Amino acid sequence: MNVLITGGTGFIGQALTDYLCERDYHVYVLTRSPQEHTDTNKQTFIGYNYPNEQLPPIKSVINLAGESLFGYWTKTKKEFILSSRIQTTEKILAFMEKLPNKPDVFISGSAVGYYGTSNDLMFSESTTTPGDDFLAKVTTKWENVAKQAEKYNIRTVLTRFGVVLGNGGALPMMRFPVQLGVGGKIGSGEQWISWIHIEDAVKLIVFCMENKAISGPVNITAPHPKQNKAFMQTLAKVLKRPYWFPVPSIFMYTALGEMAGLITKGQYVIPQKALDHSFTFSFPYLQEALHHLHHK
Ligand code: NDP
Repeated sequence: MNVLITGGTGFIGQALTDYLCERDYHVYVLTRSPQEHTDTNKQTFIGYNYPNEQLPPIKSVINLAGESLFGYWTKTKKEFILSSRIQTTEKILAFMEKLPNKPDVFISGSAVGYYGTSNDLMFSESTTTPGDDFLAKVTTKWENVAKQAEKYNIRTVLTRFGVVLGNGGALPMMRFPVQLGVGGKIGSGEQWISWIHIEDAVKLIVFCMENKAISGPVNITAPHPKQNKAFMQTLAKVLKRPYWFPVPSIFMYTALGEMAGLITKGQYVIPQKALDHSFTFSFPYLQEALHHLHHK
């Protein structure tokens, strides 16, 4: 079965591609730099201008590409964060529109940032009002473009990722101060982190891909979010390092600008659809997830 992935060279996309390639799938990775990658018998790298007619029938399209959120959020960076996602999604829609045989499913990225931030509220897929900060606006626009695939009768799933824990993404940055022996809560420490182990994130994407009853937004998070202070404490415990050095929000904002909000604010998100469809999490609890990642 053939799957086409944008962002297949990224942190989540690579893990997903490896998982699919170990199974009965051939993965076509749509990338800005196909020349930098080597094809295998299970994986083919193609550019965005690749002629559609040369592709075999594609069963599933997965759209994860977008400018990284990490880095100082200048006006230009913020424009890229939005435009890279919208433009890639529009290209994929145009590609699917031309296909005589449409894919069965379109899975498009999003983030729990859709819900905005709160220390008190709980969010699930049945929360229909998005937040009103920058990330909520980006994800709302991104989802609205992706949803246009429904007009071609393609089942569409919007994967709202929480903080995906693995050897890429946010965890190495969170681990760094702890390893240096200066781990502690960040800001108030009250902010929620809706996290998920990379292996569960990948399995849940494939679960959505293969389960015809699933469509619309799906929270890609573990069932037990943690507040930042408990998260950092657990990380210090797993790494056998001290937990004592609080980092004030003001320091984060001075160092990182508006992006600091990603770390100093959060949201409590329940993966209600995954639970309703009896998805089995391998790592529902943080300590086991961090232990597994640290010791593998
Ligand atoms: P990465 O940053 O690791 O990878 C994203 C991929 O997008 C890159 O490999 C790159 O592919 C492509 N890309 C990067 N910049 C641009 C650009 N300016 N224009 C077009 N394509 C670009 O992301 P992740 O794998 O961590 O995440 C995948 C998606 O999920 C992202 O959209 C991210 O925002 C979202 N997400 C991730 C979370 C996480 O914890 N990791 C949490 C919440 C949401 P190439 O160079 O091959 O074209």
